[in-house]
Amino acid sequence: KERNGHEPEFLQAVEEVAETVIPYIVKHDIYYGKNILLRMVEPERLISFRVCWVDDSGEIQVNRGYRVQMNSAIGPYKGGLRFHPTVNASILKFLAFEQVFKNSLTTLPMGGGKGGSDFDPKGKSDNEIMRFCHAFMSELFRHIGPNTDIPAGDIGVGTREIGFLFGMYKKLNNEFTGVLTGKGMSWGGSLIRPEATGYGNVYFAQKMLETKGDTIEGKSVVVSGSGNVAQYAAEKVIQLGGKVLTLSDSSGYIYDEEGIDTDKLKFVMELKNVKRGRISEYLETYPNAKFVKGKTPWEVKCDVALPCATQNELHEEDAKTLLNNGCICVSEGANMPSTKEAIAAFHKAKILFAPGKASNAGGVATSGLEMTQNSLRYKWTREEVDNKLKDIMADIHQSCIEYGKDEDGYVDYVKGANIAGFVKVADAMLAQGIV
Ligand code: NDP
Repeated sequence: KERNGHEPEFLQAVEEVAETVIPYIVKHDIYYGKNILLRMVEPERLISFRVCWVDDSGEIQVNRGYRVQMNSAIGPYKGGLRFHPTVNASILKFLAFEQVFKNSLTTLPMGGGKGGSDFDPKGKSDNEIMRFCHAFMSELFRHIGPNTDIPAGDIGVGTREIGFLFGMYKKLNNEFTGVLTGKGMSWGGSLIRPEATGYGNVYFAQKMLETKGDTIEGKSVVVSGSGNVAQYAAEKVIQLGGKVLTLSDSSGYIYDEEGIDTDKLKFVMELKNVKRGRISEYLETYPNAKFVKGKTPWEVKCDVALPCATQNELHEEDAKTLLNNGCICVSEGANMPSTKEAIAAFHKAKILFAPGKASNAGGVATSGLEMTQNSLRYKWTREEVDNKLKDIMADIHQSCIEYGKDEDGYVDYVKGANIAGFVKVADAMLAQGIV
């Protein structure tokens, strides 16, 4: 706390892990007295750099770029790049710390990292995006590599940005290698990677519901966000027979009482991914829906909630509203969308609650599968990747049960995910000595 007091998001993420992992350490001699958690909270390396680029009016812009290389005990650093004006060291350290546990849970050999910039992609032309990505990579390239650190996308970084980043890395290194994941299908990308985080989140929710003899079918589902994760979470809910009622962006949420079906979702994908418009424009084509400005969708009555936008978007009051409205399952697609108080309310009510580090791990897991395919110089089919993704989500769910089931039979998925993620990384760190 003394060292990181000025980094609230990072402290929040560490506290959540410490609360469940410290009692476990105390009970297990192999971890006790080794300062293992203290070692895990300090990034192995934090790189911060200047990114200068020229905008369309000829003006020179300056942004700050980062890469947090958090932990490489079980594999090369792996984690996304975020381009958003709120990006700072605290946010990236929280994301990198979470990533270490998440990647450990996937069963694949990946360490944890995260990076990005305070660059705001909103309203920028394609050329400006390209110039920024090239400038960003002209420094980042010396710190990453297919066996060192393999970045991917996150908020504000999709296939377009990965393409520009990859192009510059390839030029500077003169090698075509799987240094980034989330690549386009014709140049090393994996099928199902775009869908993986959203699909994986719904597979995880389905696994949780199964423990109660229930399924997604027929459930009303509230989704926040309208980016990559939200779009594909909504798609999978629709495929499994659930009814998606909402989507949102930073300006507010849309509520479609009739349900957002496949055609409407296709419209949203076009609106968000191609036209780069606002979610409120949904009403121009579907006037029966409502747009609620400046609010999050948690006030809409639902069975299942999938927060898929950003950190700290679901507060204690929202949790209480969801519970009062009969919500039985919350599965996080975003990273740390629920505040500590909101999670405590879900646990108190003993509903099914999955933290992002477990339920959104399908994205990075499929990135791991993309790395494997790149190394093999081979391409698996859609079905092969999707089946592997399903198996991984089922394995993560099982690990959460193994480490998170309380004496009364309630599964605390936060505790389960934290301890299961911790054990694998801690064992590797102990085996490798004090480095
Ligand atoms: P996108 O950039 O594709 O979409 C982000 C969505 O969240 C947009 O609808 C955006 O609205 C909204 N949003 C972003 N910031 C805010 C904010 N401060 N307040 C309200 N809404 C906001 O990102 P992704 O879908 O990829 O990521 C969403 C979340 O999922 C993040 O937490 C990310 O870390 C996490 N995640 C993503 C993975 C992936 O594979 N993509 C993997 C694992 C986790 P607007 O357009 O108005 O900004």
